[in-house]
Amino acid sequence: MLSINYLKRTKFLKARLPIIQIAFIILLLCSAVSAGLRCQLCGRDISGTYFKSTSGEVYCESCWKSHSVCSQCGKLVLSTIAVNGANLCRDCYARMERCSLCGEPLVGNYTQYLKLGLKVCSKCEREKPRCQKCSVPMNEAIKIGDIVLCQRCAEKTERCHCCGEPLLSNYTFFEGNQAAKYCDKCTARYPRCEDCGAPSGPYGTKLDDGRYLCPDCRRIAYFEPGMVTSIKQKVQSFINYNMGMTINHQFDFSLQGQDFIKRKAKDIHGDINGLFYRRGDDFSIYVLYGLREKDLIRVIAHEISHAWQAENCPKDMSLEDQEGFAQWVAYKALKYFNNDDFAALLTHGDDAYARGLSMMLDIESKGGPKAVFDAVRGDKQ
Ligand SMILES: [Zn+2]
Ligand SMILES: [Zn+2]
Ligand SMILES: [Zn+2]
Ligand SMILES: [Zn+2]
Ligand SMILES: [Zn+2]
Ligand SMILES: [Zn+2]
Ligand SMILES: [Zn+2]
Repeated sequence: MLSINYLKRTKFLKARLPIIQIAFIILLLCSAVSAGLRCQLCGRDISGTYFKSTSGEVYCESCWKSHSVCSQCGKLVLSTIAVNGANLCRDCYARMERCSLCGEPLVGNYTQYLKLGLKVCSKCEREKPRCQKCSVPMNEAIKIGDIVLCQRCAEKTERCHCCGEPLLSNYTFFEGNQAAKYCDKCTARYPRCEDCGAPSGPYGTKLDDGRYLCPDCRRIAYFEPGMVTSIKQKVQSFINYNMGMTINHQFDFSLQGQDFIKRKAKDIHGDINGLFYRRGDDFSIYVLYGLREKDLIRVIAHEISHAWQAENCPKDMSLEDQEGFAQWVAYKALKYFNNDDFAALLTHGDDAYARGLSMMLDIESKGGPKAVFDAVRGDKQ
């Protein structure tokens, strides 16, 4: 007897399903013949007009006029409970499914959110605030900034790695690290970390030479020359034994600030994180303090490669060949020491470093590492 029409609406959620219930219809029967009929409610014999419900109960006229009809089961009862425009007997009221939000019985139209297992009465559909992310009506709205979210969406929303605010629209991540996303506000507000490029944030560190580091990089950055020695040694032996590159000159190695390296690099091309500096037969390699291990591997391998070039390559090498080869050695060192993702970042961009590296990788893919060495040795081979 209960008719449910499923109508699909896709405006908010695919899983939202309005349901229309049509309640019992009372059949009214008038009859002059009443032999043997008793009123189901008062128990009196019926004479004259009587009323019969669709489920077969018969009632006398007096009971019919003084009692209420349950709009769900069609029975005549002493009193009904009014819910959402319907009048329900106690039994029906107790048995009805409830709205997931207000707890009232679901009478008439309601909406089902299948995925969430929610059934929402038409009143709540109309009146409750809606989550601005999933559009589902809710009892408790969580307000974040100007945005109102349901509990589920608020919990699921990723947060800015810097300020902790939910990331509702645009965000940025750095060095391909999707585990740390930054909101546009923080990205615009804070100076960038010189190591990873992310906003340094309220707990960032400003170094003596004016560089900023984010707390993540600061934690793993190297400042003591003694701590860098072992990294320098492992890169050097990778270059000697794995790459087969020997450098005959002794070279000084030191950690320096940005100002020092910039001053030394005047008129000499060099990447700002490190510098190979030559005066006659005096070779020096300067590397910035405050770098992470992977930065140190990259910079040390790069600068040692320039020292090797000074002994093995023609002086008129193009900038792209020069930097491309040094980046190629750095790339191979990073991969050797399990920094594949960081190595891959070296090919990004459109400067002499990235273009030169791509060129070297191309030569290597066709003729192996030997072809790269042949290419850069030029007439010195
Ligand atoms: Zn009666
Ligand atoms: Zn009922
Ligand atoms: Zn409700
Ligand atoms: Zn939501
Ligand atoms: Zn933020
Ligand atoms: Zn950083
Ligand atoms: Zn260089």
